[in-house]
Amino acid sequence: MKTIGMIGGMSWESSIEYYRIINQTVRARLGGLHSAKSIMVSVEFAEIEALQHQNQWDELATIMIDAARSLERGGADFVIICTNTMHKLYDDVQNAIDIPMLNIADATAARIKADGIDRVALLGTRFTMEEDFYKGRLKNRFGLDVIIPAKDEMEIVHGVIYDELCAGMIKPDSKQKYAAIIRRLISTGARGIILGCTEIGLLVKPEDSSVPLFDTAEIHAQAAVRYALTE
Ligand code: GLU
Repeated sequence: MKTIGMIGGMSWESSIEYYRIINQTVRARLGGLHSAKSIMVSVEFAEIEALQHQNQWDELATIMIDAARSLERGGADFVIICTNTMHKLYDDVQNAIDIPMLNIADATAARIKADGIDRVALLGTRFTMEEDFYKGRLKNRFGLDVIIPAKDEMEIVHGVIYDELCAGMIKPDSKQKYAAIIRRLISTGARGIILGCTEIGLLVKPEDSSVPLFDTAEIHAQAAVRYALTE
C-alpha cells in the first residue's frame, strides 16, 4: 500500500472528511482492521485565506511547496492537495517534488465522464469559478461544457464558503440559497453539479438537486485510495 501525502487544513473542516473517507474506503476495499497509510501537513488557514484575498500567490506557492516537500521527506509516495482552490498552484507544486500528485479536477472529470455527463455547473470559491486553472482543465482535457453561476450568485457561493463552511457553520438558510442557485443552473442546461469546493458537501446534499452532485472531496479521496492500492 502506498502512503498518501495530504496537504490539508484548507480548511480542516474538509480535511477531516478526507481522512474519514480515505480510511472508510480502505476498510470497504480490504475489510477487517485495514486502514490507510497517510501523512498530513495541515496549514494555518487564516494565513492562507488572507494571502489568497491579497493575491499573494507567490507566497502561497512557497507554503504549498514547503508542505509537499515535507510530505516527500516524510515518506509519502504521492501527494494530494485537499482543496480545489489551491490547485491554482498544482503545476508549481508538482514541479518542485519528485513524487506524483493526483489532481482533484482530473479525478472529478473522470467520474463525470464515466456517468455519461458532458454539461456541468461548477460551484466553488470565486477563484475556482472565475479563473481558468480549474474549468479550463475540465474543458480542454476532458471536453466538458462548464457553466458557472451569475455574478451575484457567485458572491453568495464564495461568501458562504469562507464566512460559514470553513468556520464550521452549517446554516439552513445558506442551504436554501445554494439549492436555488442549483435549480437555476439546471434550468440553463446543467446535467450535473460539481461541488468544486471541498466543504460544500457538508452543506449541500443530494436532496438539494434534481441532477447528480459531484462532491470533489469524496471523489478525490476515493481516487487517492484507488491509487494507493495499485501495485
Ligand atoms: N476548500 C475550499 C476549496 O476546495 C476552499 C478553501 C481554500 O481556499 O482553499 O476550494
